[in-house]
Amino acid sequence: MNREEQIQTMANTAFWDIIIIGGGATGLGSALDAASRGYKTLCIERFDFSKGTSSRSTKLIHGGVRYLEQGNIKLVRGALLERSFLLNNAPEMTKAIPFILPVYSWFKFLYYGIGLKIYDLLSGKLSIGKTQFLSSKEVIKHIPEVNPQRLKGGILYFDGQFDDSEICMSLVRTAIHYGATVVNYCASTGFIYDNGKVAGIISKDQLSGKEFRLKAKVVINATGVFADEVLRKDNPKHKNVVSPSQGIHIVVSKSFYSGQHALLIPKTSDGRVLFVVPWHDKVVIGTTDSKIKDPVIEPVAASEELDFVMNNFNQYTSKNITKNDFLSVFAGLRPLVKMSNIQSTANLMRDHAIFCSDSGLITITGGKWTTYRKMAKDVVNRAIIQGCFPFKKCITRTVRLMQKPVILSNNVDDIKLLHPDYSFTVLDVKNALRQEMAITLEDVLARRIRLLFLDVKAALSCAEIVADIMQHELGKDKVWKEEQLQSFRTLAKQYLPETQS
Ligand SMILES: Cc1cc2nc3c(=O)[nH]c(=O)nc-3n(C[C@H](O)[C@H](O)[C@H](O)COP(=O)(O)OP(=O)(O)OC[C@H]3O[C@@H](n4cnc5c(N)ncnc54)[C@H](O)[C@@H]3O)c2cc1C
Repeated sequence: MNREEQIQTMANTAFWDIIIIGGGATGLGSALDAASRGYKTLCIERFDFSKGTSSRSTKLIHGGVRYLEQGNIKLVRGALLERSFLLNNAPEMTKAIPFILPVYSWFKFLYYGIGLKIYDLLSGKLSIGKTQFLSSKEVIKHIPEVNPQRLKGGILYFDGQFDDSEICMSLVRTAIHYGATVVNYCASTGFIYDNGKVAGIISKDQLSGKEFRLKAKVVINATGVFADEVLRKDNPKHKNVVSPSQGIHIVVSKSFYSGQHALLIPKTSDGRVLFVVPWHDKVVIGTTDSKIKDPVIEPVAASEELDFVMNNFNQYTSKNITKNDFLSVFAGLRPLVKMSNIQSTANLMRDHAIFCSDSGLITITGGKWTTYRKMAKDVVNRAIIQGCFPFKKCITRTVRLMQKPVILSNNVDDIKLLHPDYSFTVLDVKNALRQEMAITLEDVLARRIRLLFLDVKAALSCAEIVADIMQHELGKDKVWKEEQLQSFRTLAKQYLPETQS
């Protein structure tokens, strides 16, 4: 994957069938869907791929146990189907993971037990493991840190897990393989019109500053929480359709949670569920649901959110983590579909919605990572109608997502570790630049290797080494390197807030 080649193709193509704005799960999934049906497709992202919400999820491929409790069977069943497609299409990058829901009353044992049996039944033949009732002894065996006081037992069930940014990169790779053109650091800044109808976009290469007028039969707005911002460029009087909701995660070491099983806390103090999930040899705990007015690309965890997650974890375990134990904190914004009369984002629809503006601009928002493929299918079906294209069937149910190519090196320097506690090497950095369109130090440390999300101090301590490798590989000067380091260090502070330095 080479960004220059992608830019050249973008510049030299006179006419696109479909242009997709946004390089998160929804936009990239749509690019793969459209290209694999044979439509001439361009997808642009104004920052790095998955820089938005799609790198900040809980990393679960799930039907959503919580939505079952709300009686939203259709949503759960659909997501469970999608769970199985993603597990099948990316077996090397996804896995089934056992969850335990601990119960502290016999009534709850029955209540959650029946619920999770239904959850398993809804996945039908696509079940990835049977729901089981566990004794309190068995729960403690699997999760030694669980709070044992008045523990009656637990319910074991299965869901899927992945690395969100890794799957985004594999969507880029697979979409390009099927003929799509995909460019990061390229923003859509406005629209081109023909008789009042959207007939393309104006895009700006964020690195060179160059502008392009790109013509297309259909334009899809897949910009997550920024969908309204894009819609307002089309119609300044547009009324918001997205209600952003912030969720945060804290990451701690396995010394606070040694089990291989994830923990589902069914009812937190605000009535939500909280997940404790082993991930890349660390533990991710989250999340929250706080209404946000103005979306930003780098949301910051609020102090109350940190306390909320920490206190609920401490209540359900025998551990007592403090803010000094955080290795990383990351926040993301859910692009929830706005519904009138509902104030709390926790109650907003988790399904996706497709809107078509008077100008013909198509917008897709809502949904979740797990359902990105179905969202892509639905929006491309809508684009086919809008563009009067000859209908071609969606094939992504069985399209295998391509893994990162393994590149070997006989240079001993390439296998040097970036940090003594982590297996990431010099070659990983080079591959991120050569194979995965990484442009900045942050791209490498946050989304090609996930060190910023796993351990901020470790990421900071190897930042200089990584910047050196990048400077050399990209032929940049010292000023570039210092700028990269400075902006990465500023960003990293947000991922380790408050008490720590
Ligand atoms: C805390 C949290 C936990 C979650 N956990 C899970 C989970 O475990 N499982 C699950 O299934 N789902 C989960 N979700 C939901 C899931 O992460 C989101 O639904 C999904 O990532 C949204 O993807 P998207 O592509 O629509 O948006 P985004 O990933 O935000 O992508 C939109 C992109 O558009 C780009 N963009 C904006 N404006 C422009 C422009 N003018 N030009 C070009 N590009 C532009 C942005 O930079 C951004 O990268 C979670 C969400 C949150 C917030």
